[in-house]
Amino acid sequence: MFSNKENFKTYFLQKLEMTYGKPFEDCTNSDHFQTLGHMIREYVSGDWINTNELYRRNKGKQVYYLSIEFLLGRLLHHNLINLGIDKVVEEGFADLGIDLSDIEEIECDAGLGNGGLGRLAACFLDSLATLNLPGHGFGIRYKHGLFEQKIVDGYQLELPEQWLRHGQVWEVRKEDLAVDISFWGHVDSYDKDGKLQFRHLNAETVTAVPHDIPVIGYNSSTVNTLRLWNAEPASLLAKDVADIMKYKRETEAISEFLYPDDAHDEGKILRLKQQYFLVSSSLQSIIKDYKQQYKDIKDFHEHVSIHVNDTHPVLAIPELMRILIDKEGLSWNDAWTITTGAISYTNHTTLSEALEKWPISIFQPLLPRIYMIINEINERFCQQLWDIYPGDFNRIENMAIIAHGMVKMAHLALVGSHSVNGVAEIHTEILKKREMAEFYQIFPEKFNNKTNGITHRRWLIKSNPKLTSLISNTIGTEWIETPSNLEKLLAYKQDSSFLEQLSTVKQENKQKLATIIKDSNGIIVDPHSIFDIQVKRLHAYKRQLLNVLHIIHLYNRLKENPSLPITPRTFVFGAKASPGYYYAKKIIKLINAVAEKINQDKTIEDKLKVVFLENYRVSLAEHIFPAADVSEQISTASKEASGTGNMKFMINGALTVGTLDGANIEMRDLVGDENIFIFGMNPDQVLELYKNGGYKSAEYYHHDKRIHQVIDQLKNGFFSTNINEFEPIVDSLLTENDQYFLLKDFHSYASVQEAVDKAYQDKQKWLEKCTVNIAKAGHFSSDRTIKEYAEEIWNIKGLVH
Ligand SMILES: *Cc1c(COP(=O)(O)O)cnc(C)c1O
Repeated sequence: MFSNKENFKTYFLQKLEMTYGKPFEDCTNSDHFQTLGHMIREYVSGDWINTNELYRRNKGKQVYYLSIEFLLGRLLHHNLINLGIDKVVEEGFADLGIDLSDIEEIECDAGLGNGGLGRLAACFLDSLATLNLPGHGFGIRYKHGLFEQKIVDGYQLELPEQWLRHGQVWEVRKEDLAVDISFWGHVDSYDKDGKLQFRHLNAETVTAVPHDIPVIGYNSSTVNTLRLWNAEPASLLAKDVADIMKYKRETEAISEFLYPDDAHDEGKILRLKQQYFLVSSSLQSIIKDYKQQYKDIKDFHEHVSIHVNDTHPVLAIPELMRILIDKEGLSWNDAWTITTGAISYTNHTTLSEALEKWPISIFQPLLPRIYMIINEINERFCQQLWDIYPGDFNRIENMAIIAHGMVKMAHLALVGSHSVNGVAEIHTEILKKREMAEFYQIFPEKFNNKTNGITHRRWLIKSNPKLTSLISNTIGTEWIETPSNLEKLLAYKQDSSFLEQLSTVKQENKQKLATIIKDSNGIIVDPHSIFDIQVKRLHAYKRQLLNVLHIIHLYNRLKENPSLPITPRTFVFGAKASPGYYYAKKIIKLINAVAEKINQDKTIEDKLKVVFLENYRVSLAEHIFPAADVSEQISTASKEASGTGNMKFMINGALTVGTLDGANIEMRDLVGDENIFIFGMNPDQVLELYKNGGYKSAEYYHHDKRIHQVIDQLKNGFFSTNINEFEPIVDSLLTENDQYFLLKDFHSYASVQEAVDKAYQDKQKWLEKCTVNIAKAGHFSSDRTIKEYAEEIWNIKGLVH
């Protein structure tokens, strides 16, 4: 049906009429979208079946990637590209007077994630399928993904997200594969043939119904599966009417919405329910499949690898123990060998407020059998510690899984898995040497690094077709399959014809973003100005505020001297703040207030513009990265585990202004100091400062005139008629002693920004730097990352049918 455009048109028109029973002229873009979506599903169904059959026949090892978030974004165009049918469809549509990009816009983003962690899971799925690796995702089918952000009066408002409102073309509901999950109740022990057995009584049962989405590899016949679980009432029989309504509400609430925070531990019972719901349904499904194929459950970990993305799915450890012991009748020791052999864990943060822990008072009543098992794991672990460190109560208390009335999820992950990885070299080093040093001492073999990556298929090929063509016309197309081949571009870094074309491509992408900015914000920006962009979740450690303080300072310089010779700059922000994160929301208000003031000021002759783009999400991000000149990656050193936004900018030829944090360090090592703008304290300096109780930020306020002026403007109503509006921000910088060292890094940041200004004026040299960045970005393809996971953690191999 996609072999050529004539076939496509015929099939499409037929299917459109059959589905909607109306003439072509009356069909809407939405009808076209739905029809094309269903055609694609039909088209891949054979490969989907074959892939699963192959995995069954082959009996090789498979990996299941458990994640509380999958931030997929839109799938239509991405699927067309991976299937190699984007051109056929685009041209066929053009004949019919349909613009493919209009049809794309119909699709709602699948926004089942907050930010980096969820997007990483989505990039990994794409790489797994493309590399023909037997790997599947398991997640939750939230009815409402991450909230939609509206900016009103400069403030963030949150609206419920509704990605399912028009149905979902990509998913297949599989009621026959539903499983039941038990909450509450109590555990009873009894004797069976001299063996102590446990059963869960009076539990409340919830049914998990899988909704499968095909994950289509690029230029491959592999179609893997993303299985999203929907929570539904188990059975409405045998319950009185009043209870039924309550039960139905409470059950459906489990998959109702995604928790909108990416760096705090919520501690809410519904969140714990979500976590166990994901883990129990996934493991039951995995074991059911396993038993259809294999006789001996004792070989489970030889055939199955289960990866937990952060601690949210870490209950997979006690849940697997439960199934192996209570259902399969294994001994504790056998179950433990299988469990630790199967499970591996990725740590995503060292922020203490994000390290999950659950009060026993919440945990035990909700999951009584799971709590018993964790308790037993803890007892045995503490005994092991006692043998190594007899009498060292302090250490044992620190390392225990259960202590001070809390269950510590990261400790459970460290003890119950065979692999623990950080997501950038520096992050893994910090885990080994500091945050998890005590665990590293007893389990050194478990620790390893897997620097994050991004799929270049979405973040370059799909979102930047012009740069894609330029690269392929210059060095051929091998880089698409082997992204390290982007290095061939190094030979062109001084080729004036190549640089000229690179400049044109960037200019066109900037023009497009300028149009989006005009349409959404009504602000006219100069596409020849430097596009300096910071897009990511709003969080104090990411230091959007440092960026704003510097913008205000630049503005002050221009007001003092209107003929100051600076290169015109457009500062663009995009960021959602967690709804309960008051401080982060204040920063959004500040960005908008500063934008309002600066954009209206005629005296600075359009040398500065500030834009806040609302509702930052994957589909918007795809327009932003290709248009960036400067990428802001300015987190307090040691705080950003890796970052992946930094990689998306880099592969689109933006230059990084960044701290020595996360993957920025590896970027610098690859491109060299002359092709990146590094500033500020390094991780060791920051960690030393923390050890010594911080610094005196007020000294910087008193001694640095620039800082003094900017902070006074936050206090004196310069940006707001409400003089108290930004008080919490001033307090964080002065009264609370600037926990993230903005004032300490300010001077260094301002200097490097001057260097950016200078560098941009030498157009040739700038483009040369861009070329080096693109050429070296292949290392950050998630294909590289996934190959490392496959070989070093999961021990799985590629298969082709
Ligand atoms: C890549 C991405 C992120 C992560 O960005 P960081 O700069 O690494 O924090 C967050 N949100 C979206 C929509 C993304 O595409």
